[in-house]
Amino acid sequence: MEIPKFLIERYQFWKKNTFEDYKKIYEQASKTQQKPIAMIITCCDSRILENSMFGGNVGDYFIHRNIANIVPSKNDKDQNIQTLSAIEYALKVLKIQNLIILGHSNCGGVEYSYKKLLDKKNINDFEYINEWTSCLQNSYNNIPNDLLETEKITFFEQENIKQSIKNLREYDFIDKLINENKLNVVGLWYQINSGLIKFLDNNSFIDLD
Ligand SMILES: [Zn+2]
Repeated sequence: MEIPKFLIERYQFWKKNTFEDYKKIYEQASKTQQKPIAMIITCCDSRILENSMFGGNVGDYFIHRNIANIVPSKNDKDQNIQTLSAIEYALKVLKIQNLIILGHSNCGGVEYSYKKLLDKKNINDFEYINEWTSCLQNSYNNIPNDLLETEKITFFEQENIKQSIKNLREYDFIDKLINENKLNVVGLWYQINSGLIKFLDNNSFIDLD
């Protein structure tokens, strides 16, 4: 096993510069339990820099990433354990009061699911991804027929965010916190090329600017 050069160089730069600048904050953070201001569930996509976008500092955001930022339904028992473990810890232990589902444009996971559900010929012989993305079936079913292809995929990305929020409410401990106004759930969709973020307001996505 070899440590890649970029890793060493970037780490050394971070340690000498960024870490030094925030040393006191890191020291303080290690003495107490973390108290994040929000949990963010987003996609594994490398183009999403949530800490940069939302000015994250040490301890601010509790992050969970998976392919296509899915919160699986309670019925998807083979798929939900990892995401729900992260949510359970965030809500029961850390008592985080804001849960953000951050989806995005150009999502490879959503696009693959779209093609796969459109035509079985497009199914790759993935060992795991096919099963994971089967969670997107309900969102896919809601795509209107009268949209252009690119609009359908954007709709699908946004529908997936709505569906994930609906799925959250299937879990009693989450539903209870929402009903008691102890948990605020936010749906966001981020457009990579423009930096635009839209938020889910009732049933539509509105510009955050
Ligand atoms: Zn994605």
